[in-house]
Amino acid sequence: MATKVTNPRTLPEAEIGVIGGSGFYSFLDDVTEVQVDTPYGPPSDSLFFGELAGRRVAFLPRHGRGHHLPPHRINYRANLWALRSAGVRQVLGPCAVGGLRPEYGPGTLLVPDQFVDRTKSRAQTYFDGLPLPDGSVPNVVHVSPADPYCPAGRKAALKAARGKDWEPVDGGTLVVVEGPRFSTRAESRWHAAMGWSVVGMTGHPEAILARELELCYTSLTLVTDLDAGAEAGEGVSHEEVLKVFAANVDRLRTVLFDAVAQLPANEDRRCSCGSALGGLDTGIVLP
Ligand SMILES: [Zn+2]
Repeated sequence: MATKVTNPRTLPEAEIGVIGGSGFYSFLDDVTEVQVDTPYGPPSDSLFFGELAGRRVAFLPRHGRGHHLPPHRINYRANLWALRSAGVRQVLGPCAVGGLRPEYGPGTLLVPDQFVDRTKSRAQTYFDGLPLPDGSVPNVVHVSPADPYCPAGRKAALKAARGKDWEPVDGGTLVVVEGPRFSTRAESRWHAAMGWSVVGMTGHPEAILARELELCYTSLTLVTDLDAGAEAGEGVSHEEVLKVFAANVDRLRTVLFDAVAQLPANEDRRCSCGSALGGLDTGIVLP
């Protein structure tokens, strides 16, 4: 059982963040649950602090406990801000996706190297020129998501999967749709025809907000179904997604935990994620 702390004067420290369901931390010993607030409001849920392979990890249930937040209503800015406030500098973001190619059937693990944003209504920057509650005003800053995922994190995820005899797909494009509805057949065929690999609802703006906070971010996508245009069947159902996810959550957890163990110490990062802002004056102090 988690020890619950409300309004701590100082947060427990973590170095790595995992944004995903409660299935990833619920069996850990000595988990501390901490409610955190941010200038952007509360995150999806408490942060759950635990230790894995000697690393301090903060887990955050992306959809909240009981999965009550649909993808378009998740407070992505609060989620990433809360993790950074806790000391997190490297984030792993597992999520369920639909496969856009027949060969990417249920159970496929794909570690994307690109995303395409087809969302519509989400706050996707910290640097929008609007004042924060403390009166500070973020400058308008443009960061590059040309290569949106951390190379070191991707390497750790791929190595961890291979170590579990779960041959991952190395690279591919995650197209992120607004949801909560799934795609029409026409949309799905279009996504596939563009050469994109998998489709999901939560990969954006998570990755770009992490970049804006100079965090390493790695997406691990688990295919739970073939998207409507990639098969001749009835299209995807929510039940089907949950069933395949449940069947794979144990091995996804073991891969995540091995990936955590293989990530470099925050001070030893050699990727460029930690300098994504290039020393620009953002007008706000990152936590
Ligand atoms: Zn990185």
